[in-house]
Order: sequence, then structure tokens, then C-alpha cells
Amino acid sequence: MRDQFGREITYLRVSITDRCNLRCRYCMPEDGICKLQHQDILSYEELTEIVTAAAELGIKKVRVTGGEPLVRLGCADFCKALSRIPGIEELTVTTNGILLDRYAEDLKNAGVSRVNVSLDTLDPSKYTKITGGGDISRVLSGIRRANAVGLAPLKINAVLIGGFNDDEIPEFVELTRQYPVELRFIELMPMGPGGEFGEQAFLPGDTVLQKCPQLQPLHQDGGVARLYQLPDGIGRVGLISPLSRHFCNTCNRLRLTSEGKLKPCLHSSNEIPLRGLHGEDLKAKLLEAVYQKPKMHVALDAHHRSEAGRTMNTIGG
Ligand code: SAM
Ligand code: SF4
Repeated sequence: MRDQFGREITYLRVSITDRCNLRCRYCMPEDGICKLQHQDILSYEELTEIVTAAAELGIKKVRVTGGEPLVRLGCADFCKALSRIPGIEELTVTTNGILLDRYAEDLKNAGVSRVNVSLDTLDPSKYTKITGGGDISRVLSGIRRANAVGLAPLKINAVLIGGFNDDEIPEFVELTRQYPVELRFIELMPMGPGGEFGEQAFLPGDTVLQKCPQLQPLHQDGGVARLYQLPDGIGRVGLISPLSRHFCNTCNRLRLTSEGKLKPCLHSSNEIPLRGLHGEDLKAKLLEAVYQKPKMHVALDAHHRSEAGRTMNTIGG
């Protein structure tokens, strides 16, 4: 599938729930969210039908996300169904890692190739604070288990938040000296509660290079990430900079929310409902979404919020 601007669309992110076992301060409102009812979210059969149609049109890579995907019962079995769809070459999961120790092996057996784990701080009490009560030791056990069962190379996603974790950048980067992980720093996006953070919270990805000048650029395809490495590192460092250096010109993705709305662009409120569509009608809507991908998203910074019209837990990142 090619969009109006010549970009080939090969990647679908599928949110299977808006629910989460954490409350990251930049992602979900503190006072809770209006949770979707069971009947409002797509069944695994409906989701599989949509991914099958998308694969027939050229989607090759699928990421399962949420909310927290591992809180939805049957997530691993759903992944198994996805991995069997002809044309799907890569299946990955984004998780906060809290339940990863329990499910890593099931995910591996289901055909998941890798997982991305979100971890914004290495400090246990700061972790509890930013996640609204999370226990970092569970995430670390999950990471170890994921590595042990071969869900590798593991990617660790840290949202850069000025005044919260910028002092930990060198410590995070040091991890790549010892471990074969890809540590990815993501610029905080002004959406949901993250949009209320003060200007100082929005740090450009290049802050990492200022704090760790020994990082060397790698001339490898990192997707949306610019890749770097310590001279004697075995892991890699990725910088994902949707604000300071947006990557719209190489955008290859669509996003499906758990209630079946297809988003051509993360930062636009345009959504195409897919629920209830089958066969050629479903494919026609998928193509319509590709056609409606804008050339680029709106400018984003501390004063210009995303126009996504939703909080991130309902989209999946
Ligand atoms: N619960 C899973 C997790 O945390 O990995 C998957 C869903 S979560 C919405 C996906 C990613 O979005 C996480 O890495 C999270 O840090 C990121 N995210 C959420 N809100 C964000 C924001 N305002 N700016 C940047 N990243 C954000
Ligand atoms: Fe949950 Fe992930 Fe959002 Fe944190 S970032 S509240 S773990 S959905």
C-alpha cells in the first residue's frame, strides 16, 4: 500500500485494550479513565480478521500494544493467531513489563520475535512515582525472563522528561556497555496529561548526545530511531525525536485502537471505524486510511499539543 506521498505502509500497531495496571503520569489521567466496556472493544476474532485483511494488502509487521496488552486475558494466544497470518513477517509487543515474567515464555512460543519494555527510570522510588504505584523489581524480572527465553534483542523505551530522568541518562547509556539491549530515549509528546507538563519537561533527544559525547553514530537503519553506540558497547542507544526531528517523511504505519478505529496519523483526530466491516469493504477502508495519511503531523512542542484527541493508553504509542 502506497500513500499519496509515495510512502509504503507496511506496519500496523494494534491496541488490544485501553486498560492498564499502571498510571504513568504523562499517559493516563490520575483520577482514572473512562474504561471501555467489554462489548466496546474488538474481540480477538475481529482483530485477527482486520490484521489478515491488512496483511493481504501489504502489512508485514505488527506490534501488539495497549493500554497494557498483557492485562487482557488470552494475549499470547492472540499473538499465536497473528503469527500464523500469511504475510506477517515480524510480530512484536510493547509492554510495561509488570507481567512479563509470567508471560515471556508464552509470547515466545506464540511466535513473538521481540518485546519493547517501557522503563523511564532505574530508581525504584522514582519508578513508583512516575507509574502511579509500580514495582520496578517486577519489570527487571520481566526483562531478565524475556532475555532468557530469547525475546531479543530487547528494546527498552524511556520517555525523556526534563527534571525527572535527565540526570539518569549516563546511567541508562552505561547499560548498553554490558547488555545487548537497544535503549531508546523518546521525546515526551504533548498529549494527554503529558501535554500539561511544563516547558522544562520537553527535552530534545540530542540532550543524550550532550550528556554522553562518547556515543558514536551507527549508520544502520533504526526505523524511527537514530542509532548510536558506546565505543566498547555491546548494546545500542536509539533517539526517537518526534518533536525536534519529526520522521513523518518515512512514516510507514497505521494504528488500530481497541474499539476498532484506524488512525492514519498518531497526532490527528481523524479516525476510520472498521468494526462490522468484512472482506472487500474492510480492505477498501484500510486503503482509505492509507490515502488519508497526512504529509506530516502538526507541529508539537510544550505550547502546541497533539491533535490526537485521545490519551496514549487508548492508542498504544
Ligand atoms: N503499556 C505499554 C507500555 O507502557 O509499554 C504499552 C502502551 S504505552 C501507551 C506505549 C508507549 O507510549 C510507552 O513506551 C509509553 O512510555 C509511551 N508514551 C505514553 N505517553 C507518552 C507521551 N505523552 N509521550 C511519549 N511517549 C508516551
Ligand atoms: Fe500504562 Fe503504558 Fe500508559 Fe504507562 S505508558 S500508563 S504502562 S499504557
